Amino acid sequence: MAVRIDGKAVSAKVREQVAQEVASLKAQGVCPGLAVIIVGDDPASKIYVNNKKKACQATGIYSEEYALPGDTSQKELLDLVADLNHKEDIHGILVQSPLPKGLDEKAVVEAIDPQKDVDAFHAYNVGKIMIGDYHFLPCTPAGIMELLKAYDIAVEGKQCVVIGRSNIVGKPMAMLLLHQNGTVTVCHSRTKNLAEITRQGDILVSAAGKSHFVTADMVKPGAVVIDVGMNRDENGKLCGDVDFDGVELVASYITPVPGGVGPMTIAMLLKNTVTAAKLQNDLL
Ligand code: NAD
Repeated sequence: MAVRIDGKAVSAKVREQVAQEVASLKAQGVCPGLAVIIVGDDPASKIYVNNKKKACQATGIYSEEYALPGDTSQKELLDLVADLNHKEDIHGILVQSPLPKGLDEKAVVEAIDPQKDVDAFHAYNVGKIMIGDYHFLPCTPAGIMELLKAYDIAVEGKQCVVIGRSNIVGKPMAMLLLHQNGTVTVCHSRTKNLAEITRQGDILVSAAGKSHFVTADMVKPGAVVIDVGMNRDENGKLCGDVDFDGVELVASYITPVPGGVGPMTIAMLLKNTVTAAKLQNDLL
């Protein structure tokens, strides 16, 4: 039976460290500040933004929320980003995804000052991550690396299989595992014989966004299984990509959904905001 990786406990520790760093920065006259922009009224996005706001409050990070109407123009949004780029009390800028149709998300991300890009989605930061010389890491893959570290799971020399190649999860995940000397295979929707490949994974990360997708027969006995998926099952209940009950019997470690990767994402955002504040005040 696999050990359940407790993302709530690990994220609580990260938040504690963040709170201590915020206190120490405040003592030096710097209060880390995060601006979150949300456009339109997507209910899930509203919940995410609210959670981010609460997490900031709990750790002493100053936060501002910009809730813009769904008919906001590209120019209005870019103007706001430009203002925030110049605002001295704001060190991190996050644009909640998805933006309403008609707005060019890529152009908005590229407009963020890379030093304030706490999601690490800007091409400059993506390039820095690629060459292994970075200040920010995208929150979800960074959170997964933190979970592996917390459970003393070494990556070096391991076969690592990542399902999913999105810019926010799959690709940076592969890169971070590579930086830790894993041998990485990235699978995606056009991959042939998926199960054959996933069965080779000592560490298997699934970010396909499909419930009950990873079944026990796809998992190498003793593998570490990280479930990034946040899906709804037939009954509307939150679930991951992994068929938990079956895979738990085969794996050595497994992340549950909820309570695994999810809580780490916000914790790493807070960490990135502190890093951004240090970076902009020459304290790194
Ligand atoms: P995405 O839709 O952009 O990417 C999904 C990836 O899965 C694609 O690269 C696709 O090629 C791959 N895929 C789809 N079907 C496949 C198949 N049959 N075989 C192999 N690969 C397949 O999604 P995303 O933004 O990367 O998110 C993935 C999942 O992770 C979603 O459920 C999302 O909600 C969740 N997520 C969770 C967190 C968190 O904090 N826990 C953060 C971000 C995303």
